Amino acid sequence: MTTPSTDYLIIGAGSMGLATADWLARHGEASVQLLDAHSPPHEHGAHHGETRLLRQAYGEGSSYVPLARRALRLWKQLEQESGETLFLPTGVVNVGPPEAPFIEQVEASARQHGLALDSLSGDQLARRWPGWSLDTSMHGCFEHDAGVLYVERILACWRARVERSPRIALATGAQVIRLEAGAQGGWVAICADGRRFAAERVLLCAGQHIAPLMAELGVDLPLTRVRKTFAWYACDSRYAQAHFPGFSLTTPSGAIYYGFPDIEGAGFKIGRHDSGQPLEPGETMAAFGKHEDDVSELQQVVDRYFPSIKALRHGAVCQYIRTPDEHFLIDEPLPGLIVAGGFSGHGFKFASALGEALGIWLDQQRRLPELALFGLARFSSLEGSVK
Ligand SMILES: Cc1cc2nc3c(=O)[nH]c(=O)nc-3n(C[C@H](O)[C@H](O)[C@H](O)COP(=O)(O)OP(=O)(O)OC[C@H]3O[C@@H](n4cnc5c(N)ncnc54)[C@H](O)[C@@H]3O)c2cc1C
Repeated sequence: MTTPSTDYLIIGAGSMGLATADWLARHGEASVQLLDAHSPPHEHGAHHGETRLLRQAYGEGSSYVPLARRALRLWKQLEQESGETLFLPTGVVNVGPPEAPFIEQVEASARQHGLALDSLSGDQLARRWPGWSLDTSMHGCFEHDAGVLYVERILACWRARVERSPRIALATGAQVIRLEAGAQGGWVAICADGRRFAAERVLLCAGQHIAPLMAELGVDLPLTRVRKTFAWYACDSRYAQAHFPGFSLTTPSGAIYYGFPDIEGAGFKIGRHDSGQPLEPGETMAAFGKHEDDVSELQQVVDRYFPSIKALRHGAVCQYIRTPDEHFLIDEPLPGLIVAGGFSGHGFKFASALGEALGIWLDQQRRLPELALFGLARFSSLEGSVK
C-alpha cells in the first residue's frame, strides 16, 4: 500500500491546527493533510464550552501584547469574511488586590503598549456593575477593547473554509500513535487504524498527545495535563451580555477565576484558572460533579463575589496542557517537525495570529520574532527537556 504524501501534515485539527490550515488555504500553494483523532469541534480537547476571553492588556506578560493585537485584527477579519458573529466586544475587567502580580502586570502591559484601561476601586466597580460584591481592598482594571470569542463557532467556521480548499484534506477519526522519519526525508504519521500519511514538514499540535509522540522520538517535553471545571448559573439581567463584562478575578489568597456574562441566555459562566487535577495523556476526564470539590470550588466564589447569582445550571470539564512557566511551547525540536502546545489555559485568544505565524513557519521556514518567547531552550536547565 502506498503512503499518501502531501507537502505538510498537521496533526491535531483543533484550535491551532485549523487556524494554521485556514491560513495555508488562503496563502501559498502547498498541499496539506490535516489529521484529527475526533471530528472538530468536539469535547475531547481544549476547545469546547462555547466561549473564551480575549484580553490584550496581558496579565501573563507584556510580550504577548503584539500577538494579542494581531489576533484581534484577524478575528475581526474572519468575522467580516464569514458574516458570522464570532467576537462579542463586552470588554473585560480584571479584579483583584492591587498588589496581586496578575493585576500589576495587566497595568504594566497597558502602560507599555498604550492600551486604554480604566482603573477602578472595589466600590466604583460594584457601582458600575452592580452584580459584583466587593470590598475596598479590591481593585479593578477594565479594558474596553476586549471581549468574548465564540470558540466552537470559530472552529466550525475554519473547518468549513478549509474543507472548501482543493489543496487541503481533513481526515477525522485519525488518531496518530507514532511518528517516524521518512526513508527519503520528511516524516510519516501512523494512525491507530493502520493508515499512514507522509509529508515534507509536520506541525504537531495534538494537545495531550504531543509529549508522548515526541518522547518516542527522543524529545522529552515538559508538558502536563490537568482536568479543569467550569459551570453556568441562572442569573438576573444585571449579568446579561449588554450590562456585564467578561472578567478575571484574583482572590486575596491568590486563586484565579475567570468568567463571562450571560450570553444568549446560556447563564453566567465561571471557571477556575489555577489548580486542577493532574491527568495522564489518554486518561478519561471524570465528568463534572465526580470530583468532590467540583461544585464547592465554584460555589464559594459565586456566593462571596456574586451573591445574587442563582442556581447552578450545569457544569463541564475540559483540559489544560501546561508548561512549567505557563508560557506556550512552540518550536522545531527536530528538522521539519514543529510542535505547538502547552497553551496552559490561555491560548485560544491568540489562535488566529498563531495560525498565521505557524503557517508562515511551515510554508516559508521563517519563525516570526513574536514566537521567540515560546522556545524549548528556556527549559534546558530543567529535567525533562530535549535529550
Ligand atoms: C476550561 C477552559 C477555559 C479556557 N479559557 C480560555 C480563555 O478564556 N481564553 C483563552 O485564550 N484560552 C482559554 N483556554 C485555552 C484554549 O482553549 C486552549 O489553549 C486552546 O484551545 C488549545 O488549542 P490546541 O489546538 O492546543 O488544542 P485543541 O483545540 O484541543 O486541539 C487539539 C486537537 O488535537 C487532536 N488530537 C489529540 N491527540 C491526537 C492524536 N494522537 N492524533 C490526532 N489528533 C489528535 C484533538 O482531537 C484536538 O482536536 C481555555 C481552556 C479551557 C480548557
